[in-house]
Amino acid sequence: MKDCTIVGGGPSGLSATLVLGRARRNVILVDNNEARNKVTSAANGFVTRDGIKPAEFREQAHKEFSEYPTIETMEDKVVKIEKLKEGFIIKTQLGKEWTTRKVILATGVKEKFPNIPNLRDFYGKSIYNCPYCDGWELRDKPLALFGIVNYTFHTAEILRNWSQDLIVFTNGQELTKSQAQRMKKSKLRVETSPVLLLTGKDGILQKVELENGLVIDRVGGFVTPELVQATELGTKLGLKLNDKGGHHSDEVGNTKIDGLFVAGEASNIYPSQLIIAAASGAETAMAVNVELTHEGVLGSQKHI
Ligand SMILES: Cc1cc2nc3c(=O)[nH]c(=O)nc-3n(C[C@H](O)[C@H](O)[C@H](O)COP(=O)(O)OP(=O)(O)OC[C@H]3O[C@@H](n4cnc5c(N)ncnc54)[C@H](O)[C@@H]3O)c2cc1C
Repeated sequence: MKDCTIVGGGPSGLSATLVLGRARRNVILVDNNEARNKVTSAANGFVTRDGIKPAEFREQAHKEFSEYPTIETMEDKVVKIEKLKEGFIIKTQLGKEWTTRKVILATGVKEKFPNIPNLRDFYGKSIYNCPYCDGWELRDKPLALFGIVNYTFHTAEILRNWSQDLIVFTNGQELTKSQAQRMKKSKLRVETSPVLLLTGKDGILQKVELENGLVIDRVGGFVTPELVQATELGTKLGLKLNDKGGHHSDEVGNTKIDGLFVAGEASNIYPSQLIIAAASGAETAMAVNVELTHEGVLGSQKHI
């Protein structure tokens, strides 16, 4: 039986795997390599790793794992997790199956975009999600902000810090009185006409075409998508989601289901940053190790 199965190999799952490997735990990391930051060429703001390619971040982690004999990794998708009296059975898409004492879900989130044709073509190249990740590269440029979810106006207000040449495109949605007042106070231009098309080259935005006939020059910007859990593995085991869309857990990722933990954006969706997800994975891994130790399961004696 494995000590712990980590589902998801983004920064939270990678970090949890390293901490547990160093704690001499027999762990397996399963990842299907579908992280949402795959679309971007640089991940910014992780101190000592500023600007690193997402693929390189992962490669470096896997290189580090090779030092630890109790870490196993697998490229596959976990399709089912069954709760046993003690532990769980893990089943994968490629037909693998094993038992594990603990599970960490580090499966991340996925985006639901506003209904704007071809927005995905620009996502990760000149249109991004988070100003702290990509605001610096777009500083002082003519920017667009797309989408209406409850945090769009907050994003609009703070984006002024990076560029004051900013237009908010609501794609057909009218503003409430208080939203309009917020935008007026921030001196921000708002276009409510539906977006017909984005045009540009190789993912770099050049123009936003609106249904009312306006064509507006922009060189990039941001979108505020709705972020939803990437899998139903947790909710199928009986976990509920909190009001921000993460799985209910305590501050170290322990859930109400015995042996099941959540880390990274499977636990806390906001703020969305590599370093925060990695820290969450490390903290959850320590909680797993403590729980195993208290249950009398000590680390493996396996040596290279
Ligand atoms: C376009 C873009 C740019 C970004 N830029 C930055 C940046 O510059 N700086 C920064 O700090 N942050 C950036 N982020 C945010 C950052 O990518 C996330 O905060 C971080 O990746 C979240 O880590 P995570 O481990 O929680 O989830 P993820 O990184 O999303 O990893 C989840 C992993 O779980 C896997 N998975 C899901 N379900 C299963 C399953 N059933 N079986 C097996 N594997 C599964 C997925 O394939 C994925 O690899 C960016 C995000 C995007 C979308």
